[in-house]
Amino acid sequence: MPDNDAFARLPLAPANRAPAAPLIPWPHGKRGAMFLSADVDAESAWTSKDPARYEELVTMSFGGFEARVGVPKMLELFDQLEMKATFFITGWSVEAHPATCEAILKAGHEIGHHGFHHIMPMPGHPSLTEEVDRGLETLKRRLGVVPVGYRAPYGESCEELRVLLKERGLKYSSSWRDDVRPYRHVLADGTPGLVELPVTMTYDDWLYGLTNRYSPRPLFPREHVLSIWKDELEETADWGGLITTVLHPQVSGRPMRLKLLREFLTWVRDRGDIWTATGAEITAHFEAHEPKA
Ligand SMILES: [Zn+2]
Repeated sequence: MPDNDAFARLPLAPANRAPAAPLIPWPHGKRGAMFLSADVDAESAWTSKDPARYEELVTMSFGGFEARVGVPKMLELFDQLEMKATFFITGWSVEAHPATCEAILKAGHEIGHHGFHHIMPMPGHPSLTEEVDRGLETLKRRLGVVPVGYRAPYGESCEELRVLLKERGLKYSSSWRDDVRPYRHVLADGTPGLVELPVTMTYDDWLYGLTNRYSPRPLFPREHVLSIWKDELEETADWGGLITTVLHPQVSGRPMRLKLLREFLTWVRDRGDIWTATGAEITAHFEAHEPKA
């Protein structure tokens, strides 16, 4: 139990002080938008909590599936559907799987920053700056990419990280859970921060489609997930909002998962009223229309 002083220091204010997201019309008169995005963690998803796991070769093989099968199958699907996505890639994955990452780039998708070792950003910890800078350096050196988008490993953030991302020139973050439309962060000093493209756990495939010895659990069938994904999108579109997918090639690149994803994305496309775009495109659209202070 924390001591009373800790509670006495707790601000009596919302943790996120950004005003409510503005209602901005989507391009081409579309009712809603979809930010099609995936996180390429590969083996770093598994070593981030303990590098010694690198010796656990079957655990590593979950991540290895991503480069061998998952990413190529997802690229094939996006190509068939003529959809462009954003792939948030850890620096480690770029170093270990350069050909896979080059293929993503060559297919015309956006590449975003996802840390280096996929370490959760912790305030005051030296790894926080190192993760951001080493990730930037690797994307530049290996792929020639200067990313504008960032997704936090484990989806966690803190003030120190918000300030650092702004200083390093990032334009948008896609990590927070508190809205259904893009908004602009307000930093603790009152200055504007990055644009946020919020996510919801609804579209995190990891929850439905991955089981392993560290967290053994049953998988969700296609009908169940499709029902959740369609309901969330239909209602969000009615609200004029944005849905953000958080796909992982080590999950959605599996055969039954890819079939499910194909069905969902085809349904989205055939509706005709959803603007599907990359994070950079949605951010540029937001910046062109956001109310000026
Ligand atoms: Zn990740």
